[in-house]
Parts: sequence; structure tokens; C-alpha cells
Amino acid sequence: MSGHGSIPLVDLRAQYAEIGPELKEAAIGALERTDYILGADVAEFEKEFAAFVGAKHCVACASGTDALTLAFRALDIGPGDDVIMQANTFVATPLGAVLAGARPVFVDADPATMQVDLAAMERAITSRTRALVPVHLFGQAVDMSRVAALARRRNLAVVEDAAQGHGARWNGRSVGSFGDVAAWSFYPGKNLGAAGDGGALTTQREDVARKLRLLRNYGSTVKYVHESPGTNSRLDTLQAAILRVKLRHLHAWVDRRRAAARRYRELLADVPHVVLPQECREEEHAWHLFVVRVPDRDRVLKTLQDAGIGAGIHYPIPCHLQGALRNLEYARGAFPAAEDLAGRILSLPIYPEIEPAQQAAVAAALRV
Ligand SMILES: *Cc1c(COP(=O)(O)O)cnc(C)c1O
Repeated sequence: MSGHGSIPLVDLRAQYAEIGPELKEAAIGALERTDYILGADVAEFEKEFAAFVGAKHCVACASGTDALTLAFRALDIGPGDDVIMQANTFVATPLGAVLAGARPVFVDADPATMQVDLAAMERAITSRTRALVPVHLFGQAVDMSRVAALARRRNLAVVEDAAQGHGARWNGRSVGSFGDVAAWSFYPGKNLGAAGDGGALTTQREDVARKLRLLRNYGSTVKYVHESPGTNSRLDTLQAAILRVKLRHLHAWVDRRRAAARRYRELLADVPHVVLPQECREEEHAWHLFVVRVPDRDRVLKTLQDAGIGAGIHYPIPCHLQGALRNLEYARGAFPAAEDLAGRILSLPIYPEIEPAQQAAVAAALRV
């Protein structure tokens, strides 16, 4: 238990309690080697993470948001180009496109799965469309067979937002291995999290990997020779050292998340006002978040908070209604499913170390 009687949404202290000594050793090693920028641990982590994903290349960078921006830039997607994504994602998905100069075009969610409505995605394609952006939201893979077929038929690129997808699979293959490029985040609370910000891109394409290596490092691979107008977006060696330790635990952690998700299903099966996440290929879901739907959500959220339970809302405002994107001129009502979800979704505490008694306490608080 972390903290007397309180159950956080994510418990990084419980994780530290399990692997603290390994993390300290790795961090001290990196400090002592002093290769702080693009050091040995970055190169090793890139190899190990590429192998985990089943991608030919991994290029680490400073955050998931940067990873998305770099993904579009590496595909030469920018001003005048549209990219299609669901309205119910984290705002960084569209911001990544905006920061590359492209225009996000939103489509509605499928109310059953809460994932992108792929039929709507197809209908939204125009002559300006350059890429499809499937988001593996909550740790559940989008149907990448359908996305790949659609992209091939319409000659579009695929940029996977895998920021919530570490450990998620589609037909046995890791997310992040399907698209032209995939963006990952290592924000501390993700399934694989650094001790600060971090991100990465995976790709099967040599040309894309090469461009990404330039773009994240001032457009340079040889010191003081600059081929393209790149930025400074590198993963710190210190963070890479920490991520290498955590990556070794990731398969086991995802298995424990799956066990926790099964336990919630059992505990909540007979609570009539709680709508559970739709049954899916449970062995392929990475359960970054366990998202239920309840009527009168804000009251339920307050009940849980009063009981010391850190429930969350992912996300309370759909992207098309965010002030940051008002210039896209979407109106309320544009995406009824995404808007309806925003008012009813509730993320329950889930992390590998969560104890059955903690989950039982969450279920008990949801019954009232
Ligand atoms: C976390 C997240 C991002 C952004 O990652 P950062 O590392 O926080 O910049 C992008 N997309 C989704 C779906 C995310 O959950």
C-alpha cells in the first residue's frame, strides 16, 4: 500500500520500491561516465527498444510531443497537408501535427471501443490528406490491418501514436511496428516511463530513421555540419539508462496490468451502473488505463476522491473543443460520441503493483 488508505491513479513509489536499487546503479553509472548527450546508454536503449517493438530502427528524442512533430517532419508533412485522427485523444496528438505545420482533421470515436471510428476516418479522406494517425488509446491497439489496408488503397502515410501503447499488440505484433513511423512517450506515468520527459520513434524505414536522426540533432550527424533545419530534441543519457532498466521489466509489468484488468472485470461485473471496457483481445491490450463509463460521472469521481481514490478523466475536453485548436473552427456537436464519452468516462487506478485489496476498495467505492 502506498500512503495510508489512499490509492493513487498511478503509483510510481510502489515501482521504485521494487526496482530502486537497479535504478540507482544505472543512474550513477551514467553520471560517472559523463556522456550526458547521446551517450552509450541512448544507443543501447534504441537497439533494445527497437527489438522490443519489432522495428528495424528506434530514434530516441525528448518527449512524445516532439516524437509526433518529428514524425510528420520526417515524412515531409507540413503546411497545406491534413492528417486524420480521433477527437478523443490527448491534445499532444493534434499539437504534434500543428507544430509541424500540418492541419489535424478530427473524426469521431467508435462508442463501443472508444477507439477511432475507422469508417469515419475513411470518409474524412480528401485530396489534402497525407496521413492517418491511429492512436492506441488506453493501451488498446487500433485495428492495424484495416488501417494499413486503407492507407495502401488511398496512398497515405501512417503515423502511429503509441504513447499509451507500450506492450500492446495487434495480431501478435507490437504496436509501433506497423506504420511508416510511430511516436512513443516515456512520460513517467506511461507503461514505460522515465524519471522525467522522454520520447522515441520507431520505424521500419531506413530513410525515415536517417531523417529523424538529423532532425532531433540540429540537422546534423557530423559535428558542425548541418544538412537540414533540425531542432534539439534528444533523450538524455541519464533517462536512457533508467529506461534500459525499466524495459527489462516491461513484459512482466504489462502481464500484471492484464491481471489487474481481469480482476476489475470480476469485481465490477455485477455493478449495474458501471459500463466496463468492451471485451477485446485481452492478451493484446496493454491496459495503460482502465476506463469505465458511469452516469453522473462528476459525482462518482467526487465519491472516489473523498475515499482517497485517485480516479482520473482521459480526457474531459475533446480535442476539437480545446481553445488551443479553436482556429480549426470545429463546433460543439461535431463529434457526438467523443463528446458523450468526455462526460461519462472514468479512469480507475491501474498499475502493475496494485494489490487485490486496493482494487476491491475501488470497486466498493463504485457500488455506492
Ligand atoms: C502522453 C501522450 C502524448 C505526449 O507525450 P509527452 O511525452 O507527454 O509529450 C501523446 N499522445 C498520447 C496519446 C499521450 O498519451
